[in-house]
Amino acid sequence: METTGQDEHYEAVLNKKILAYTTTLNRKWLAVNRTASTFISKYEGWLDTKFDLPKKGKKAVDLRGRPSKPFSDLSERAKIRKVKPLVETISTDRLLWATRVSLFKEGKHAAADLLKQSTEYSPSRPAKIRTTFRESLVKDKIISYTVDEALAHMVNCRMTKNVYHQTRLGLKEHGVNVYPSYDRIREAKKLCYPEGIEIYEFGASIPLQSLLDHTVRRVFQTFDLPEDFNFFEKYENAEFIFKWGCDGSSGQTEYHQSFNQNTHFILNEPQSNSDGDNDSDDCEQNRITDANVFLFSCVPLRLTFGITDSTNDIIWKNLTPSSTRYCRPIKFLYKKETKYNTCKEVEAIEDEIKSLVPIEIMINNISVPIHCKLVMTMVDGKVINNLTDTSSQRCFICKCGPKDMNDLKNIQQFKINENNLKYGLSTLHA
Ligand SMILES: [Zn+2]
Repeated sequence: METTGQDEHYEAVLNKKILAYTTTLNRKWLAVNRTASTFISKYEGWLDTKFDLPKKGKKAVDLRGRPSKPFSDLSERAKIRKVKPLVETISTDRLLWATRVSLFKEGKHAAADLLKQSTEYSPSRPAKIRTTFRESLVKDKIISYTVDEALAHMVNCRMTKNVYHQTRLGLKEHGVNVYPSYDRIREAKKLCYPEGIEIYEFGASIPLQSLLDHTVRRVFQTFDLPEDFNFFEKYENAEFIFKWGCDGSSGQTEYHQSFNQNTHFILNEPQSNSDGDNDSDDCEQNRITDANVFLFSCVPLRLTFGITDSTNDIIWKNLTPSSTRYCRPIKFLYKKETKYNTCKEVEAIEDEIKSLVPIEIMINNISVPIHCKLVMTMVDGKVINNLTDTSSQRCFICKCGPKDMNDLKNIQQFKINENNLKYGLSTLHA
């Protein structure tokens, strides 16, 4: 084998030398326009150089040119070419045995055993070994958090930026890089904010249209609708139901923040509007203060695709409707929950609801209008009484007081205000 290799190499070196010589000769010959006399005179020196042949039989290193590569460094094709004579003359059984014996000799016992396992038993065994190996790879594979998953995890665990950062670096040091960088979390966070947030002296608000638009789009991002899904083939309309409401909270910590009192007039309510709510007092009541917060929020409940006058398919459903998880703030104000404020602010939102336009969502390149329906159910007794102009001692549907309840004859006389049925039953009847 050794000699054959050297012979091959010698021949290659010789060929290379001859090729180099003829190329140069050709170039020079053309340079003198194929005139023999000019050629001889011009290149006398070059013609006199000795063309020395490499000596045969010398060691490969002494020969000029590229020494032959070891077998393991050869390309796949070259390897196939090299072993071709072996494969053609020796049977597979013998080759396998030979391989096993030489592996064993080299101390590669595991490899030798694996070769035996995969060739000597049932024909399905190699496939089984491979599957087991691949499965074990998948099982141990570390799956990183996506940016949104990491953000959700951060919010759920109430992690601060610092805690997140430290956890991430700590894991990284132990060779587990599963958390995305905080910069990317910040980017993802920005995507959670709707457009058009307004902040003013005594509160902040988001245009309802913008808030619903953003919420619906984000919910749609979580779907995996089939690629051939065509909305108008199966359905006629899409409706997204939200619940909304408001509540006030007083006795919040005051942070001695100085407010621009010029906005005072906005808060100043007519004195005549006072009721038994103790909000009839003086100017001190209407001073802007962060002790009272009046919050309006909405919660997405479900999305249905349907055909008019037919059953609807529920596409998405809020599984935790009472949880704050999906709660979206519409606005908050540093105001007291008075009758005047409640009526005024609820009216403002109802106006916004009336002017809502359907949200156009692209589903598989088809624009589908989503109609939003908002129902005001997130209200407590105080808000209902304020809105329906009822005292807390009377039922807001039939206006009866506790005294009339026990006389069953009165049942027929109660006049039901159907408009107020949307708020549910009064606790007085319970
Ligand atoms: Zn009643």
